[in-house]
Amino acid sequence: MTLFLEFEGGPVPINELSWLEIAPCGCACGIHVAESGSEVIATPEQAWDALHYFETKARAAQDKKAGYTVRLGRRSDVNLLVSDCEHDPKWGVVVTPIPDGYEWGGPNYYYKAADRKHLVSVARADFDDNRMQASRMTALCGREGPNFWARDLGALAECTNCVRAALTMIRGGAR
Ligand SMILES: [Zn+2]
Ligand SMILES: [Zn+2]
Repeated sequence: MTLFLEFEGGPVPINELSWLEIAPCGCACGIHVAESGSEVIATPEQAWDALHYFETKARAAQDKKAGYTVRLGRRSDVNLLVSDCEHDPKWGVVVTPIPDGYEWGGPNYYYKAADRKHLVSVARADFDDNRMQASRMTALCGREGPNFWARDLGALAECTNCVRAALTMIRGGAR
């Protein structure tokens, strides 16, 4: 049995289609199969969840609010994918400015659904690949760290209190 999805005004066999994630700038930044074995991804909502499977819900919500969307494309549309968008700002998203001496850190390397990443002072921190540690590292929002903070946190949303504190710091410093 062949499944069909409506695409460009007519039915197209699902195995000729893929789901594309579109960044706010219009660039295609991600792709997911529409059919894989017994798995069928037939709606934009299902495609969104599949494309954000490894992120927390808060992080996926942050991307949605920033303007990321999904749409169907032909499998040959894979050539629309870009790994290095040339728009300014990149992907059409203004990046939260990070004050000097700070870095994003997560409270756990194996994050939980409720975790967010925080801006942590790294002035006295030791680094290895995946984490940074010091005797005491407090985030801008006031959250006390564990013994270490995890780095490389694409799956986590930003702590909104840290973002607010960072913007205040940077505006204050520019005066
Ligand atoms: Zn772009
Ligand atoms: Zn925070």
